[in-house]
Amino acid sequence: MADANPSPTFPKGPFRSMPAPGWPPTQRDSTSGIDPAQIHRMNLNESPFPPSPKAIAAMQEAAAKVNYYPDPKWRDLTAALSAHTGVPQGRIVMAHGSDELIVQIGRLALYEGDEVLVPTPSFPGYSKCAAVNGAKLVAVKVRQDGAPDIDGMLEAVTDRTRLVFLCTPNNPTGGMLTTEEVVRFARGLPNTTVLVIDEAYYEYGRHAGGSDHLAALSAADVAVPWVSFRTFSKAYGLAGLRVGYALCGSDAMAETLQKIRSVFNVSRVAQAGALAALADQEHTRSILERTRIERERIMAGIVKLGCEPFPSVGNFISARTPKPPAEVCAGLEARGVMISSLHAPGFDDYVRITTGNADDTDALLAALEEVLK
Ligand SMILES: *Cc1c(COP(=O)(O)O)cnc(C)c1O
Repeated sequence: MADANPSPTFPKGPFRSMPAPGWPPTQRDSTSGIDPAQIHRMNLNESPFPPSPKAIAAMQEAAAKVNYYPDPKWRDLTAALSAHTGVPQGRIVMAHGSDELIVQIGRLALYEGDEVLVPTPSFPGYSKCAAVNGAKLVAVKVRQDGAPDIDGMLEAVTDRTRLVFLCTPNNPTGGMLTTEEVVRFARGLPNTTVLVIDEAYYEYGRHAGGSDHLAALSAADVAVPWVSFRTFSKAYGLAGLRVGYALCGSDAMAETLQKIRSVFNVSRVAQAGALAALADQEHTRSILERTRIERERIMAGIVKLGCEPFPSVGNFISARTPKPPAEVCAGLEARGVMISSLHAPGFDDYVRITTGNADDTDALLAALEEVLK
């Protein structure tokens, strides 16, 4: 069989030169000879802490009923999320991870040649969202504090701008915006754009003293249609379950997002697990607190080793390293510690480290000391 794509019409243009998603590096063939179970996964912003035992029990119970389709309207889960967030239940749209929402909003918003405005460095999903729709990514460097540069981004809006991603706290730099800034930014956007506030790290921002922006945004009477994306993948320790959700600024936004989703998009097990995890806020607080402690240990440790970190509130830290990131990552990998580099123009000398548990921090700092020697 020939390997070359035999069709002149399939797939359509933007997909031809696009790579398929790669395996996460932790699943790559290990050349280091290290047992995969011993690897310190500090590269994907996963929680090293397992989910709530109540969530595990609820998922086991739901597993016995997977002969039945899940609730296509996720009623129990959106009712609980509504109570938790203050957003009306009808404005909450569940998804197979917030990553799925990021791709879907692009399909709804973008024609070829449109512009997608993002901070840089930020989440790689935004560039995929632009690329699959043949749109152009316009990236504005984050501020010194690692938060999106809202003034620079407002200046970069053109009449082709259709979609704007504001990631706060921003992955990978970890800086966050105030509510006043988020509202000011939204007020500055025309209604010919759509504003997505990516709040994958919302819970970490709150734990670090940040405020909730959505009530103020709802009250602010802004022109731009907006939506916040949140997820159970990070602070709830449920990355493997794939549950994200959209908190919509209007009924129209919620209806629009509903149009594009598949009917049974969140599994029965996933709905049960997310519901039970949401109810166990004590467990989430403990994850957030343990994350804060390890983040501060990593921060202090890497500064001593000559790295220059952004001041992060997330479960990750980006830092400039005194040696080239490729060398640092490879050196750490050989010692069983996975971290990542930033892959964003202008940030070639940065790495991102996901906070782990206390053991992970010890292993990271010991390995980094050797690698940077
Ligand atoms: C992890 C992450 C997501 C995706 O989360 P899922 O719900 O697991 O798909 C989205 N945005 C940002 C900024 C993230 O870091």
